[in-house]
Amino acid sequence: MSKSELMEEVVKEILECKKCELWRSRRNPVPGEGSLDAKIMFIGEAPGYWEDVKGKPFVGAAGKLLDKLLAGIGLSREEVFIGNILKCRPPGNRDPQPEEVRACTPYLDRQIRIIRPKIIVTLGRYASAYIFSKAGISFSGISKVHGKIYHADVLDLDVTLIPMYHPAVALYNAKLKSALEEDFRILAVQLEE
Ligand code: URA
Ligand code: SF4
Repeated sequence: MSKSELMEEVVKEILECKKCELWRSRRNPVPGEGSLDAKIMFIGEAPGYWEDVKGKPFVGAAGKLLDKLLAGIGLSREEVFIGNILKCRPPGNRDPQPEEVRACTPYLDRQIRIIRPKIIVTLGRYASAYIFSKAGISFSGISKVHGKIYHADVLDLDVTLIPMYHPAVALYNAKLKSALEEDFRILAVQLEE
């Protein structure tokens, strides 16, 4: 099967999924979107209000910032893939629960295997903790590891892993926003290599 056929299958399953309780309160699942040949995959946490309304990732305020950060290093959304740990919105944007992460991440794993990215950028502590665990690296907290470059084996793929702060926290914290901008420059340098 081609990449697009495989991804269509994953998306179809997500759209009908009831593997955790979040299906009850969601309006639309958010499977993720972008190029299936993307060199970089961005992994966020979970849909928020607008993502749930539109069924698309990072379309609210955090998404606007992500778009700006991408444009700042010459990337468009179309050439990367943007996904999330959870595909359905937790009510009131509460934190993902461990059982929800367990239920949902097989979809993300399949998406990573289909896309085979060279670089994975994890946004925030949930995405970072999850991918670190897949890579067998102990996670010491996002403030310690953000902007560092890890060469890791994730699902049998050789990837460059760069954890970053979540754009949503950078919206209200100028220091974290500068850190995020700096980490995108690190990503830009990595892209040159
Ligand atoms: N925050 C996320 O982690 N993901 C989205 O898709 C939107 C906001
Ligand atoms: Fe299924 Fe994931 Fe949605 Fe839970 S969050 S219902 S596991 S798609």
